[in-house]
Amino acid sequence: MKEKIEPIDISFFDPFDEEKCHLCAECLINCPIIDLSREEAIKEMKKLINGHPTKKILEDCQSCFTCNFYCPENAHPASLILQRWNELYKDKGLKKRAKYYITHYPQYPNFRSYVMENLPDQTKDLVAKWASLEPLEGDTLTYPGCNVITFAELTQASFLKDLEIRGRLEYCCGETLFRTGFEDKLREVTTRLDKWFNILKPKNLLVLCTAGTNVFRNILPHYGLTYEFNEIKSYIQFLWDKIKEGEISIENPLDLTVTIQESCYAKMFGEDYMDLPRKILRTIGCDIIEIDACREDMRCCGIGGGFSVDSSYSPLSIMRSSFRNFKDFRKTGADAICVYCAGCLATLTTAQKLYFRKNMKIYHIIELIQKAMGEEPALTDTIKKERANAFFWGIMKNQMPKMLSRKRFTIAEIPEDPPEYKEAW
Ligand code: SF4
Ligand code: SF4
Repeated sequence: MKEKIEPIDISFFDPFDEEKCHLCAECLINCPIIDLSREEAIKEMKKLINGHPTKKILEDCQSCFTCNFYCPENAHPASLILQRWNELYKDKGLKKRAKYYITHYPQYPNFRSYVMENLPDQTKDLVAKWASLEPLEGDTLTYPGCNVITFAELTQASFLKDLEIRGRLEYCCGETLFRTGFEDKLREVTTRLDKWFNILKPKNLLVLCTAGTNVFRNILPHYGLTYEFNEIKSYIQFLWDKIKEGEISIENPLDLTVTIQESCYAKMFGEDYMDLPRKILRTIGCDIIEIDACREDMRCCGIGGGFSVDSSYSPLSIMRSSFRNFKDFRKTGADAICVYCAGCLATLTTAQKLYFRKNMKIYHIIELIQKAMGEEPALTDTIKKERANAFFWGIMKNQMPKMLSRKRFTIAEIPEDPPEYKEAW
């Protein structure tokens, strides 16, 4: 393991290099998700390399990429898992229940479109404006990402209100397609995004999530994105800059202890990036109690439990993964869980509906900053609860009936142009 995690470069996602691998199994024994002895890890690694079915890795991996950081040879073991998933997907397809998580076709109900249909009218109007293809006034396109689109009220914070936000679910960056190994689909996504960026012609990209920042900086250029930005910035850096420059002033420091759900991609940007949410939280008055699964050893909020071909977005696997995190969060005794990815907010608030132990409050870091400024967040506790209900009931009505189906499917072509916005919902 490197002493200090440095920001990755684009080669981090290169294909697995079998020549370099000497089967030490350091990668898999340090997996924060799957517990393996060294002996088991070596066996799993051999099976992965030989393309044989594994006992655990291909079923339970959440493509968090931590194993890549532990490989002393930089052999990119996570890429080998994605490659094997891709082969399995091409061979067998995905279980039918996964269709509910494919969001590029607004004509089919999916877990996000169901939520969009149930947004309050005011929020629907806000999100509709983001679909505009009219030229930008400034140089920077603020990209909300699918998860902020479903929690659009977050962008009503005073310090975000002047941003030129553009996006819609159908301009998804393809993060989950990448993390599930669907290479060909990701290339179709980049074709769609390239065309969109060439219409709007932004010089800079401000991304309202860490995952999207990584996808645009480090992944899509591998998959054919040709559009070039002068700068791609994460909103966490943007927020910290605003706090440092005094543009966000803390009038009511919070008296709150929080524990943190790490974003899967924060580690890709190194220690300094992982420090940013912590610096923000301390500045606004929070005490932080970390769980062991933090920073580069973090565990995904739970959605990663759905990524393997075997899981095909099984809600039970996703929930089980979230529950494991809740157990650790509760042990800290903190007042609340802070997330800095709206996807974690969606997964954790939804999973918490079935977590029958005492629930903890879950806040997005934007809400906490607003509270510390003395500003009332537009994303109220009631709205968060309604949003979690919409995610939950969407899954219950549309995905659960297909849980036991033996049918499989492959993802249809993602056309260059998404359908007209109005057709979406
Ligand atoms: S990608 Fe993450 S979950 Fe998968 S084997 Fe590597 S460390 Fe484990
Ligand atoms: S990929 Fe790296 S860490 Fe994993 S077994 Fe091979 S050399 Fe060891």
